[in-house]
Amino acid sequence: MLLVNEGIEVMIETTIQMSKTSRQTSLYQPKQQGLRFPEIPTFTTPQEERKYRKEHLVAACREFARQGLDYGFAGHLTVRDPEHPHLYWTNPMAVHFAQVKISNLILVDHEGRVVKGEYAVNQAGFVLHAALHEKHPDIVAVCHAHTVFGTAFSALGTKIEPITQDAAAFYEDHVVIVEDAGKVAVEADAGHKVASVLKGSRAIIHQNHGIFTVSRHSIDAAAFWFTALERCCQQQLLIYSTGAKPKLIDAASSRYSREHVGSEYIGWLHFQPIYEYLTQSQPDLFD
Ligand SMILES: [Zn+2]
Repeated sequence: MLLVNEGIEVMIETTIQMSKTSRQTSLYQPKQQGLRFPEIPTFTTPQEERKYRKEHLVAACREFARQGLDYGFAGHLTVRDPEHPHLYWTNPMAVHFAQVKISNLILVDHEGRVVKGEYAVNQAGFVLHAALHEKHPDIVAVCHAHTVFGTAFSALGTKIEPITQDAAAFYEDHVVIVEDAGKVAVEADAGHKVASVLKGSRAIIHQNHGIFTVSRHSIDAAAFWFTALERCCQQQLLIYSTGAKPKLIDAASSRYSREHVGSEYIGWLHFQPIYEYLTQSQPDLFD
């Protein structure tokens, strides 16, 4: 993975396979030495990386709670196990996002069997998330919740338009899925249909259902881009509710913004102050 040292990018071999997107650097990384700035961690063992992924998965759940993205027992956040790629960690069924902690996470296989943990897995969550993880071995993390704006926006069956710099992050990088629109996905076939349409994109708007984000980098990036997509849905609905037609960002500028402020690395970076805030204000997430 890349570290920045006096402006020189240094490739450091790790035993952990990282996706190519995780090696992206950014203009946001300071060239000046000695300043505090989040660095992507390196791991020497799968155990270290598992601990990191679980802690950040819990923090992502807590952030979903903080933003009011819960809806009863709906909503699933998953992160692939670094050592056993056919297994993924997720939040337990019927536990509020605000009460997810390290000790109640569950480890689930692609057949929906809980192989570690005391709680059940949400059937609809398993169907969709397992299909995405199984069909796309490069995907590290998936987020989905039944949010107010994402779900409302999904009923339009349309894409996020490049109406703001933030929205440009999703330009040409999300799909609208109309398969099984509004039909709850509790059978494996439904998950496979959704997974087959995703291809290389980072987000799904599932018509009449809601939004999904995936990351080939980290649960941090998946979670941040989920909250960003929810905001984009809100903003687009807000603008169109005025009756005025927004001015769109042109294609070249949208792509430029996406490359600079919409990368996986930027998503990870956005999540770091959230992680710091949550771990200090809600230390029980480590229980
Ligand atoms: Zn759902």
